[in-house]
Amino acid sequence: MQIIPLPAFRDNYIWLLRDGSRAAVVDPGDAAPVLAYLAAEGLTLDAILITHHHADHIGGVAELLAHASVPVHGPARENIPGMTHPVSEGDAVTVLGKTFRVLDIPGHTGGHVGYYGAPVLFCGDTLFAAGCGRIFEGTPAQLFASLEKLAALPGDTQVYCTHEYTLSNLAFAAAVEPDNAAVSERIALSQKLRGNNTPTVPFRLAGERNSNPFLRTRETAVIRQAEIRAGQALETPVEVFAALREWKNGF
Ligand code: ZN
Ligand code: FE
Repeated sequence: MQIIPLPAFRDNYIWLLRDGSRAAVVDPGDAAPVLAYLAAEGLTLDAILITHHHADHIGGVAELLAHASVPVHGPARENIPGMTHPVSEGDAVTVLGKTFRVLDIPGHTGGHVGYYGAPVLFCGDTLFAAGCGRIFEGTPAQLFASLEKLAALPGDTQVYCTHEYTLSNLAFAAAVEPDNAAVSERIALSQKLRGNNTPTVPFRLAGERNSNPFLRTRETAVIRQAEIRAGQALETPVEVFAALREWKNGF
């Protein structure tokens, strides 16, 4: 099975899975690039996977369903027009012969799910390369727990998130930890990739804890910076996480 990025909007990736003449898509915010790719490659759409209800992730579902009546797997706790298979933690979804386990990873939205089939993880807007999604519906504690849950997956996991935010996330990571060599190295590598218009996604989970400040809330240097920004002592990793997320919102 191959997994292809279909760029959409400003910085979204719609992930297209293909195997033989069959294809599936994850978070099709726009139908046009999907239909164009299917037509150009002579592929038939088999299934749609949705991680959460935001328009840039579901906007193309209705039009895709008008072309092909396929199962739409999505978060049971969210309202997804066209959804045929609501899923939640522990469910299994088989797409193109590969089985994915559903993970509840709330925080960005209230019912956000991820799909994990080793070594592939589709995690929507929860974990980004060197960053994480904004907290729109959940609480800092929820998103923190979701990120820790994803970070506990095997190191060889390939993380397919849905936005190309890596360089701006790394700029923030460098502001949090100016002396973190893993951050500077990742900036150089990512700049090179983006200079060639190559996606920085997927990325390997191993090493993410070295440069993603949101997974570094137990590091003294990170705690200190977060406390300076918050103007108060922060007692727990969740409080540090919440302060970092607040800071990043205005960064
Ligand atoms: Zn979103
Ligand atoms: Fe999004």
